Amino acid sequence: MSEEQRFYPNRWAKIILTSAEEIVGRDGVAALLNMANMKEYIDNYPPDNMKKEFPFEDVGKLQQAFWDMYGPRGARVFATRAGEQAFNDGLQSFGQVAKAAQTVMKIGSLEKRMSVGLAFFAKFFNTVSDQVVSVKSDGEHWYWRLEKCPMCTGRTSEQPVCHLAVGVLRGAFAWGSGGQQFRITPTNCIAMGQEEGIIAIEKEPMQM
Ligand SMILES: [Zn+2]
Repeated sequence: MSEEQRFYPNRWAKIILTSAEEIVGRDGVAALLNMANMKEYIDNYPPDNMKKEFPFEDVGKLQQAFWDMYGPRGARVFATRAGEQAFNDGLQSFGQVAKAAQTVMKIGSLEKRMSVGLAFFAKFFNTVSDQVVSVKSDGEHWYWRLEKCPMCTGRTSEQPVCHLAVGVLRGAFAWGSGGQQFRITPTNCIAMGQEEGIIAIEKEPMQM
């Protein structure tokens, strides 16, 4: 391998599995793990801690198994749900971080607050995992740029596969905006041969 190994925190890997379990049950998850060639995790989920021990390759293999078993749409449902749960769990387990985010997001327009919040969370995610994320924006969009991405590690695809990040962002935007919904679209993905993954978020919330 050309690169050093990177890791996700155990708890996030666990959330991917437990949130899938809510949809397909324990047997369904066992079948997935079987398919992913990750039998060692059957009835033996990663521990509930933030140690960076779950290899990016395994995140990728797991996401691929969802894809193979349930198709792109199904995989998207699982990943989005897991991402939202991971974000909400993060708020609970990192009360100080949530408070700090709320403090920096207090002032200004919705756009200003979300910009500050996004930068804040990018930094947070870069700290607790080996993922590397940065944020850019133009007049209409924010761009969540995944320079090192666990979700597509070891994968190739013709469409973006990093819906776990979409779920995390959905959770973040719903939380930061007091429940408004934003259009969040993955446009680029390392699995498609591109240099980095990009998820575009429209600055104007959707009309409900
Ligand atoms: Zn990716």
